[in-house]
Amino acid sequence: ESFDKMGLKENLLRGIYAYGFERPSAIQQRGIVPFCKGLDVIQQAQSGTGKTATFCSGILQQLNYEVVQCQALVLAPTRELAQQIEKVMRALGDYLGVKVHACVGGTSVREDQKILSAGVHVVVGTPGRVFDMLRRQSLRSDYIRMFVLDEADEMLSRGFKDQIYDIFQHLPPKIQVGVFSATMPPEALEITRKFLNKPVRILV
Ligand code: AMP
Repeated sequence: ESFDKMGLKENLLRGIYAYGFERPSAIQQRGIVPFCKGLDVIQQAQSGTGKTATFCSGILQQLNYEVVQCQALVLAPTRELAQQIEKVMRALGDYLGVKVHACVGGTSVREDQKILSAGVHVVVGTPGRVFDMLRRQSLRSDYIRMFVLDEADEMLSRGFKDQIYDIFQHLPPKIQVGVFSATMPPEALEITRKFLNKPVRILV
């Protein structure tokens, strides 16, 4: 198995290899291609399986780099995780020129607004700050067409359900949605039923 056979952009492959990955993990083997096709996906996988690079690759493959507008939004349960995803996205997308920003609580709202108005391709963040940015229209949703919920079960158990629903209301209809979760509690299933269209299910 190899990253070479997934039809990925040359400069994405370069980023993947430069990051030190040689071979795709099980979730990457099964999850990257459907994500790259624009399909909705539910990937039930623990952390440590390589899920971050799965959705980062899927997003990086599909971005239009000429348009410096937010086209992909990733939500994570904690600031640390959001910032870690930001780093992976930036590293894998290094040769593509991706612009990523992490919108998390505990940082300057003004600074977020400045960076967002200068233009990014991808926003990674925690639900509270992301919703705040959408509500203020500092984060424009017009161009968003990919939405990932990472550690969905963890976000729900931290009480982010209402904010996740509010964020969905602010996004364009018919966007691609990826749900990554170690477990599938009823509230997570409800989200997949409400917002995903014929999702591909991958259990690792
Ligand atoms: P994650 O499940 O995304 O948190 O990834 C867990 C760890 O596995 C991280 O330290 C990644 O850098 C590493 N990792 C992910 N994919 C690969 C791969 N294909 N080859 C080697 N290491 C990987």
